[in-house]
Amino acid sequence: EPVIGVLAMQGAVREHVAMLAEAGARAVPVRRAAELSEVDGLVLPGGESTTMSRLLESFELLEPLRARIAEGLPAFGSCAGMILLARQTLDGRPDQQQLGGLDVVVRRNAFGRQVDSFEADLDFTGIADRPVHAVFIRAPWVEKAGDGVEVLATVSGVPGVDEDTARIVAVRQGAVLATAFHPELTPDVRVHRLFVDLVRKAA
Ligand code: GLN
Repeated sequence: EPVIGVLAMQGAVREHVAMLAEAGARAVPVRRAAELSEVDGLVLPGGESTTMSRLLESFELLEPLRARIAEGLPAFGSCAGMILLARQTLDGRPDQQQLGGLDVVVRRNAFGRQVDSFEADLDFTGIADRPVHAVFIRAPWVEKAGDGVEVLATVSGVPGVDEDTARIVAVRQGAVLATAFHPELTPDVRVHRLFVDLVRKAA
């Protein structure tokens, strides 16, 4: 079974570990560069993207992580994790770091400052039968996606988005997956299973 790390700086680390185990991976928390070098894939949980940038620097993980992602490490970012994986952040703080890996521009806290959270059922490319129940918490959206980026899910008719506009909230580029929402906060393991499959294929 593939070994998948969960970046353990902030956010729902335990929930991601449990989901990955259920999806057939060996899941391990990652806090140090030595631990990063052992994994076949990495999950970047939500939290606060500027704080996570700072923590990555103080744990001396920023450059090692950039290097592994540039070499093709499969990665899955949810919410703040999506922000970190993007090439550029709009409305980010000045000390926001980008890991790259996804040729997208994201907008931080995109659904409006007064909107803390909401939920929506989404059609998700590659996940059949029934929609994915998505939990959004001060979420970003993808404002611009490059040619190599596959859009997996969009949302409309929610706070900050009218019915005839679709905002991009899940993407994949090669073995890098990102969702603006938090699949680890629902009992549905299918998004994690999709990521475990990407890690297996990349191995
Ligand atoms: N708003 C947060 C940020 O800017 C992301 C929120 C989340 O990860 N739930 O990083």
